[in-house]
Amino acid sequence: MFLILFHRVNPVFVDLSPQTKEIYRFQYHILRVTEGAPDSARYNGRYFEVVCTPKSKTAELMQVWYTKRAKIKFVEIAAPVIQRFKKYGVVPSGIHIKSMTSRWGSCTPAGKIILNIELIKTPKPCIEYLVTHELCHLIRRDHYKAFYELLKTKIW
Ligand SMILES: [Zn+2]
Repeated sequence: MFLILFHRVNPVFVDLSPQTKEIYRFQYHILRVTEGAPDSARYNGRYFEVVCTPKSKTAELMQVWYTKRAKIKFVEIAAPVIQRFKKYGVVPSGIHIKSMTSRWGSCTPAGKIILNIELIKTPKPCIEYLVTHELCHLIRRDHYKAFYELLKTKIW
């Protein structure tokens, strides 16, 4: 299901060398790195600009940028989805961000929703899907057919 959603969007890939691109919203963006101070990373709507010394700190600064952005965007994107689940008495105890290698998201029995930081590089519908999926787990913990039936009614 998740993979289908990823395939439904039509990403635009620009052919650039691996050192000069970053993925955001499922698209590659030019990354301009300048040696200098203070350390900073920003996105101007078209490309990323990183200032640091030495330049090898670029990946670390980009990770900080992605984390800050995820903290804002995940909560913003999850809010209307959470609203749709309130009538079922389902309210998450919080949205948390984590770096995970094998999962896009998870949730605890206490209602804590954990989203993979890498999701910030995907389009909004992918993040909405993950939040919906995890909220459905607060109703059904399994992945049986009934879970996917429930998910289907909540996603579109
Ligand atoms: Zn699941």
